[in-house]
Amino acid sequence: MHTYWSKLARNLVPYVPGEQPQDKKYIKLNTNENPYPPSPKVIEAIKAAANDYLKLYPDPQGQELRAEIAEYYGLAQNKVFVGNGSDEILAFAFMAFFDPGRPILFPDITYSFYPVYAGLCNLDYETLRLNQDFSLPVKQFCRQNGGIIFPNPNAPTGKAITLKEIEEILSNNRENVVIIDEAYIDFGAESAVKLINQYPNLLVVQTLSKSRSLAGLRVGWALGEDNLIKALDTVKNSINSYTLDRLALAGAQQAIKDEEYFQKVRKKIITTREKTSRELLKLGFTVIPSQANFVFVSHPAVPAEHIFQRLKEQGVLVRYFKQPRIDNFLRVSIGTDQDMETFLQVIEAIVRQG
Ligand SMILES: *Cc1c(COP(=O)(O)O)cnc(C)c1O
Repeated sequence: MHTYWSKLARNLVPYVPGEQPQDKKYIKLNTNENPYPPSPKVIEAIKAAANDYLKLYPDPQGQELRAEIAEYYGLAQNKVFVGNGSDEILAFAFMAFFDPGRPILFPDITYSFYPVYAGLCNLDYETLRLNQDFSLPVKQFCRQNGGIIFPNPNAPTGKAITLKEIEEILSNNRENVVIIDEAYIDFGAESAVKLINQYPNLLVVQTLSKSRSLAGLRVGWALGEDNLIKALDTVKNSINSYTLDRLALAGAQQAIKDEEYFQKVRKKIITTREKTSRELLKLGFTVIPSQANFVFVSHPAVPAEHIFQRLKEQGVLVRYFKQPRIDNFLRVSIGTDQDMETFLQVIEAIVRQG
């Protein structure tokens, strides 16, 4: 069956992305995309970049974009790495900072790409059990390990830890790299970026995919000490020097520049999330308080898998993970107010029927 496959390929267990079905038009609340379009300035910049210069390779260092991000965070440019989505940066980071035989730590319920990267790099890992309320077991991260990674806020729970708790983990792990995946940071948690100058082992990874409505452009960045950025550059330049194309570089720069648009969209999603959470509580759902652009919910009487199927039949896609501890939960991305009204009407009918 795997004729011609390398041993490496045969042993891979790949990530399964959320569905992007083409059969009909769904209300897509399953992959945490932003329901609003990107800033019009981003579209203009991409159109303007579609010119004759496409015959030339892009800047392999992405200097202008890095300068923009560095200025935004008040960091030196050599503390910024840019990549083709944060997924790519995470893959580079697993190769750059972790070694086989020294188990890395991440939560049992978290972004399911982490075990995939570990498998690809032949790394050992231990998962730490989230507390009963799905909070991160901070103290348990303060022990011998080969590195740490977790999202803050965590996915798919939407729960975040405080900067003080992050510091507790960092100060107890000075020998290893600690990666904080801040894909959802703009929806309510506090970024660890301000700790970078104090902790040379901290790498913060962010993306344009969620809060800046650019999942389709594939741009993310990592922030950390010069030395960590150099390691990422070394791995990148051993795989592909031109991970970001000219259109992506041009669009990403404008996305960072258009702060006003970003703030407007980000706040809108937070407002819709809070409203949706209140409505779901009224319908009897357990709603984990979220600091992300999705809510993680469970109904005491109607099984999540049943709700998932019924929603899908009626054109509403959410995410269901058939996984221990969370197999009675649904992750629902926050859409527009209109999307969420429709979602609430449909889900209300489903739980009424039982
Ligand atoms: C969406 C997501 C990413 C990936 O983001 P891209 O920049 O689109 O690759 C990374 N980590 C977590 C936890 C995510 O949910």
